[in-house]
This record gives sequence, structure tokens and C-alpha cells, in this order.
Amino acid sequence: MLKVILFLLAGGAIIAGGWLLAGIPGHVAVSIGSISIDTSAPFAILLLIALFVAILIVLRIVRAVWGIPRTGANWRRRRRLVLGQRAATRVLVALAAGEQGAARKEASRARNYLGESPQTLLLVAEAARLSGREDEAEAAFRVLTNQKDARFLGLRGLLRQAVDRGDWAEALVIAKDAEAAHPGTAWLRQQRAELALRTENWAEALQLIGPDPHKAAYYVAAADAEPDASRALAFAKRGWKQEPGFTPAALAYARRLRTGGYEKRALACIASAWKLAPHPDLATFALASVSNELARAQAAKRLTAGNPAHPESRLLLARVALDAGLTGEARHQIEIMEGDGLNLRRQCLLLAEIEEHERGDTEVGRLAQRDALRRAASADPDPHWQCSHCHADNRAWQPKCESCGNIGTVQWVSGVKATSGLPVIVG
Ligand SMILES: [Zn+2]
Repeated sequence: MLKVILFLLAGGAIIAGGWLLAGIPGHVAVSIGSISIDTSAPFAILLLIALFVAILIVLRIVRAVWGIPRTGANWRRRRRLVLGQRAATRVLVALAAGEQGAARKEASRARNYLGESPQTLLLVAEAARLSGREDEAEAAFRVLTNQKDARFLGLRGLLRQAVDRGDWAEALVIAKDAEAAHPGTAWLRQQRAELALRTENWAEALQLIGPDPHKAAYYVAAADAEPDASRALAFAKRGWKQEPGFTPAALAYARRLRTGGYEKRALACIASAWKLAPHPDLATFALASVSNELARAQAAKRLTAGNPAHPESRLLLARVALDAGLTGEARHQIEIMEGDGLNLRRQCLLLAEIEEHERGDTEVGRLAQRDALRRAASADPDPHWQCSHCHADNRAWQPKCESCGNIGTVQWVSGVKATSGLPVIVG
């Protein structure tokens, strides 16, 4: 409808213009050499308009002919762009499908069509990595690092490669460059934290790391690695606060408290750890400064007061009672354990010692000892430090498993044979 109205308006305007033109009076006479033109004014105006339109058309044609080569180049560029984008899409599909050959081929095609853009270089690198051609991938990542806007992408790729081949020194250098290229990224922070752990830079790891189930272990390691006593004490305290029932953390803090002359606080720390998760090393620490056997028995009672029914408490009480010559008390503790259905190796060995103390070198005593030792041979093994990752036994607790090198995986496991067949983590 609008078009019809416009058409009618334009028609009306042309008719009105023609009518006005026809109404112009006078005539035009032009003489060029021997040629003379004598015509009416409206016709002369029409001729001028026609001449103007003809000049416009000629100019347009000249411009179109002049621009033919440039139009051809544009067309070719657009064509390459379309083909390049198609190849790039095929690379993504091949990468997703794990098709190594197709990914590399299409990535090379995309690079030919689109040049060394960050996108194509990234595709080339990822396709090369998928095919196991780390050198090709590294070359592409290095080209990326030279592009101002894509430098971080290149460094990210190089960092991943360094981490994969375990080159921690190189990875640290790259991580530093990446931080400078694009500061404050969460991913890089995580990577730097992992590198700090790998290189045993515990203090830096603790600054970078977020929530982590092994944080207490890192604090203990940081305290052990710290030469400054007050900083070491601060690390140890934070480790203990992080996980008060973690024996290495409690010991790390208590040891430094004792060295600093804070014996009461050290013993309180050990007692609170015992309450949560009794461990023989805690008892060794707590009783280390007590030499009198009866005093040791008293000290053990104080230590175990928060968790008296735990097998470790009963074993400790039986041990110190026996050492103090209180065989009745020692036997009482062992009998309670037997009543609880426990059959631990140390419990049987203690019983053998009790039999020896009580019955001496008699026939009955020898028989009772032999029976206890026989039971010890088939009893549940002692709890020990074991890696939760590779299940290798570790001689003592350490931040890194001595077998597989995993960090924070060494845990105290009981030797009691659980129904699942797996060791039970104690504390
Ligand atoms: Zn391990």
C-alpha cells in the first residue's frame, strides 16, 4: 500500500514537473563553429538533464571496470575465509572424536587458508598433541607466545607440556611469564600452587592453594622446612588448628612449644590430639620427659583420660603399668581388649610379657607365654603409615609418599582386617 502511494506521488511529481517545464517561456540559441542550435527553453533544459544522466552512467561504468581486480581479490579472500572456517570446524569435530589424523590434516588446511591466527595455531597445537607430536605442538605454542593478544594461550600450552613431562623448573619459569601476561587467573593460581607443591615450596603453595584436604600436611612440611623458629611455630600452629587430630600436626606444634619452653601447652596439645585420634608417637612425646616408672603410669593416665576406651589408650596403660610392676592393672587392660573382641599383635605380645612377669620361668608360665606368642603370630598387624594412593607402607609420616611421590596421601591405617578387606584409616 505504501509503495502504491509513493508511486502515485512520484508520478504526480513528474507530471507536475513536466507541466511546469513546458510552461517556461523563451528559447535557447547556441552556435559552436558552423553548428547552430536554436530550440525552445524547455527542450534545452531536458537535453541538459539527459546529458547529466549520461555522464553519471559513464562514470559508474568506468569505476566498475577499474575495480574488477580488487573485487576479485575480495572474492578470493572471502572464499578462503569460508574454506578456512569449514576446516576449523572439522578440526574441532575431529578433536572431539579423537581422530588424530583427520585433526592434523584439517588443522594444517585451516592454517593454510586462515594464516597464523591464534585460533588456527591453537587448533594446530591441539591436533598435534592429540597425535603425540609434542614438538609440533610446542612450535605452534611458541608462535602463539609471540602474538601480543594470544601470548597467554601459548604460555598455557607450554606450561601444560612442561607439567606433563615433569619438567618442574621449566614449568615454574613459564608459569611466571603467564602470570605476567595475564595476571590473576584462577587456573594459573591452581597450576602455580601445584608446582609449588611439586617443588616442595610449601610456604608458597599455602599462599596459593584454596580449600584442600591435605592442608594440615602442607603446614607441617612448611614448618619443617622453615629455618626461622617463630615462622616455623606459626606454620605448625596453623597445621594443628587445621586438623587437631592429625598426629604429625600435633607433634610438629608440640615439639616447637616444648623447644620454646611451653611444656604445659605442648602437653595440652598432645592430650587434645589423643582425645581425637590416639597414636603411639603422641604417647612417646608426652612421656619422654618422665623417667620414673610410676610417674610414667600417672602421666599415661592423664594423657588417656580424654579417650580411655580406645585400644591405643589400653595398650599404653597396660605397657606403663607393666613397666611399673603393676601387672594386675596391665592384665586388666588386656582382658578388656579381649572382651571387646580385639586381637592385636601388640596386645598379644604384652600378654606374653605379663605372663612372664606374673608366672616367671615355670611350666604354666612358659605355656601361657607360648600361647600368647602363637596368638601374636596370627593377630591383626599393628597400625602403620600407608599411602592412600599406591597403598605402599611408609616407615614414618612424610608429606610425600616415599613410593609414588603423591603429596598428602600418607595416612595412619589400622592393621585390623575390615570386612571390606581394605585397611581402616585411624585418625
Ligand atoms: Zn604412594
